[in-house]
Amino acid sequence: MQYVSTRGYTAAQNFSEILLGGLAPDGGLYLPEVYPQVSHDELNAWRGLSYADLAFEVLKKFITDIPEDDIKALVTKTYTAEVYKNARAGENASEITPLRILEDQSGRKLILQALSNGPTLAFKDMAMQLLGNLFEYTLSKQHEELNILGATSGDTGSAAEYAMRGKKGVRVFMLSPHKKMSAFQTAQMFSLLDDNIFNIAVEGVFDDCQDMVKAVSNDLTYKAKQKIGTVNSINWARVIAQVIYYFRGYLRATTQNTEKVSFTVPSGNFGNICAGHIARMMGLPIAKLVVATNENDVLDEFFRTGIYRVRKSAETWHTSSPSMDISKASNFERFIYDLLDRDAVRVAALFRKVETEGGFDLSGQTGSDGDEFKKIAAFGFQSGKSTHSDRLNTIRQVEQNYGITIDTHTADGIKVALEHIEQNVPMIVLETALAAKFNETIQEALGRDAERPAGFENIEALPQRVKVMTSNVDDMKAFIAQHTGL
Ligand SMILES: *Cc1c(COP(=O)(O)O)cnc(C)c1O
Repeated sequence: MQYVSTRGYTAAQNFSEILLGGLAPDGGLYLPEVYPQVSHDELNAWRGLSYADLAFEVLKKFITDIPEDDIKALVTKTYTAEVYKNARAGENASEITPLRILEDQSGRKLILQALSNGPTLAFKDMAMQLLGNLFEYTLSKQHEELNILGATSGDTGSAAEYAMRGKKGVRVFMLSPHKKMSAFQTAQMFSLLDDNIFNIAVEGVFDDCQDMVKAVSNDLTYKAKQKIGTVNSINWARVIAQVIYYFRGYLRATTQNTEKVSFTVPSGNFGNICAGHIARMMGLPIAKLVVATNENDVLDEFFRTGIYRVRKSAETWHTSSPSMDISKASNFERFIYDLLDRDAVRVAALFRKVETEGGFDLSGQTGSDGDEFKKIAAFGFQSGKSTHSDRLNTIRQVEQNYGITIDTHTADGIKVALEHIEQNVPMIVLETALAAKFNETIQEALGRDAERPAGFENIEALPQRVKVMTSNVDDMKAFIAQHTGL
């Protein structure tokens, strides 16, 4: 299996070569030369597998340069009931992503798939936990080390830290805006006292943190000397780790392959739902892939009109589903590449236009950049959006009707799912976080606190370690160098 760039960079790479990198040298994203296919018989055989065994079957189609026994050992270590232990009462933790049927009446079936039972209570653990083990494995083979530098406003940073803590050969330097995260999120990150985890609180906002990371990315000499890497959502290993749970959801919601299911996915950077698109391209019988956004509706606008218009920071709202507050969707280029029949020259031109003019137009109208909008339905995509008051209503209704507390992102998903659900096609909504992470909005909706999984009761009281800094890039670079010793 070889990988190519969406912008046409020609030297094909194998999996291990792209694992530790980010963008392709031409600025594009990596995709397999062809999507591996899953046959009817294979899919049937996968029905009885454990999550780890299913992960092995899916991953070995994408990873052909790591011995199969080693892949098996990595997934067996990753997908355990011990790691994904934060299942709700009534859920079986060893299912890893347990399904809960919310509604099954008059041919209408609404299902919630829990992806947030890992250590940081958000779906990013599904991929990041595998990434931590893959990094440690690959670095030890190459006798190498890696220093991960990132900026976070919450979920990504903690998922990365919990995945990399204690891993040999890896250090994490994570920037976050000083005093801007929730008390819960702050405690989750800063209470990690492992020697290889460094939390840096920057006196500024999230954009300042991101600018500091960019400044380091642009300093190629420093970056090479300090062996700096990233784990952002364009990382290909994260995408394939997410493909696994679409197969799992399908296999657990159906009894035979003639059945189809649809998925609704709370979306921000298009990473999660991109994995659904790939599963569908591999032959998984998915009817619809429904993109759910919050008020930051750049993706909903595209799927309704064919016009992709990235937002300026003044137009990017801070909402109560903050992990979906994006101005542009960093994984979107992967879907556009397929939508354009893998025409890398056109993809490169469109995404250059995103940089220079803030977007592109595939509506097919006079003066547009193409007419591929009319092909979107053939890929199964639909979309919808949800607002703060929708979230409050949905959280209340789900509590009332089904007796469970959902988080704000999942609420966006359920609201949009109910607008797209069809007779006789189960609709699976991906649950992307547990409510405890976004307690402020739960209090607003329900007038009480969200339940906390065992072990998180007093997290705010644990000892914390953090380095507070100004947004001075040189100070940060010196801090990193001092701790890597490179
Ligand atoms: C990251 C995140 C999302 C958005 O996922 P994308 O892959 O960026 O589309 C949704 N919900 C939660 C809770 C998240 O942490």
